[in-house]
Amino acid sequence: MTSVYAEAGFLIPMDGRRVIRDGAIYSEDGRIVAVGRREEVKEQALSPEHVIKLERGIILPGLINTHVHLAQALIRGVVPDDIELIEWLRDWVWPLQGVYDEEDGRASAELCISEMLRTGTTTFLEVHVHKRYGFDGIAEAVKNSGIRGFLSKSVMDQPGYATQQGIMHPGMIEGPESLQHFKEYHRRWDGEADGRIRVWIGLRTPGACSDDLFHESARLAKELDTGITMHLAEVRADIDYFKSRGTTPTGFLERFNLLGRKRVYIHCVWLSREDMRRMAATGSSVAHCPSSNLKLGSGLAPVAEMREEGVNVALGTDGGPSNDTYDMIREMKLASILQKGRTLNPKSMGAWDVLEMATVEGAKALGMEREVGVLKPGMKADFITLSLDRPGLHPISDPVSLIVYAANGLDVRDVVIDGRVVVREGVLQTLDEEEVMKRARERLEKVLEKDGRLEEVKSRWQR
Ligand SMILES: [Zn+2]
Repeated sequence: MTSVYAEAGFLIPMDGRRVIRDGAIYSEDGRIVAVGRREEVKEQALSPEHVIKLERGIILPGLINTHVHLAQALIRGVVPDDIELIEWLRDWVWPLQGVYDEEDGRASAELCISEMLRTGTTTFLEVHVHKRYGFDGIAEAVKNSGIRGFLSKSVMDQPGYATQQGIMHPGMIEGPESLQHFKEYHRRWDGEADGRIRVWIGLRTPGACSDDLFHESARLAKELDTGITMHLAEVRADIDYFKSRGTTPTGFLERFNLLGRKRVYIHCVWLSREDMRRMAATGSSVAHCPSSNLKLGSGLAPVAEMREEGVNVALGTDGGPSNDTYDMIREMKLASILQKGRTLNPKSMGAWDVLEMATVEGAKALGMEREVGVLKPGMKADFITLSLDRPGLHPISDPVSLIVYAANGLDVRDVVIDGRVVVREGVLQTLDEEEVMKRARERLEKVLEKDGRLEEVKSRWQR
């Protein structure tokens, strides 16, 4: 039996807006047994196998990143900064990812997962596992790393983005058999690694799927009770596409029966109030990625209004070249201050609001609200600790404010997932970080060689 006891100066259970002073948590066999004040929890934790103690620290639920591109960690800083989304995809991201093989896919996934674990993410939703990245290798990486991974198989049958100028690199194109591949991976991996791996459908983009494929994907997701995720209304030009189809973003989704629980739509920068109401009424979720929206000049997502209308809004980091980190703590700060600046209202989107987005609302988006996102008995033991032992996090005042506005991901000290200590005192226990970084450097060179732009990219770095 694996058991973990952890205590800290503060514990934030996220079962409402309260902070427990001198808190503790105890888990057995992957489930939380007790949470509360230290003296009460200690009584139940008679001989724990692992003990975590940090006086000047915080225990909170593991963070949930609802929009990740595992494959893009490898091309962080390689895709040029300061270019528009379509050009960014068509000239760089797709051609580079279009030459990946299974080793490149796995190296990128391991790099990304290592970063996520070190910065406190315990669950993530990946949007597009392309066949050429090697689904099995990536699922193995999730299994071995100890993280909880929702892997969406990329599903498409047309070569384009919504707009006419976005025709995909040949290496990225998959046909209608992509849905067949989803079925195989779902059969093989869904529920594996003690339920830590889930397999979803990652619809490519509105312009990359035929109407038949949308219908079939919605039907299949319902039959298998699995989730669907897709980028939606990211840039203003996307609205023109929906107009050309005689509809709106949510009108389009409704047409194909794609709204509902475990349906996670990414970005949603250009939603109308009516779109928001449809999202809310159907229990669909939005994955908000403020860094990516700002860096690519896509716009300012109206998250304050979405929440007002009752939409479940979770948080995501997006990928390597659009963020360029997978650090959810930094993303929380930006999500908060962006809405304050956008609405000219400092009361908008406080620290508690974004902490909820990164935990409970993330869990709800994935249909996991009874399992993770809150620390209480019976839930899965997914929690992290954060050390306040540095000048930048002193004096120790309001712990929620410190997490959101002053900390960053590297302040995370311990990470426990399914009752297993995956990061201990800042050191990853399940993957060899040096080895992961070495492999990433090697595989990036290979990718650039295959793409034919190794010299061009190298000369850019040496300037
Ligand atoms: Zn994305």
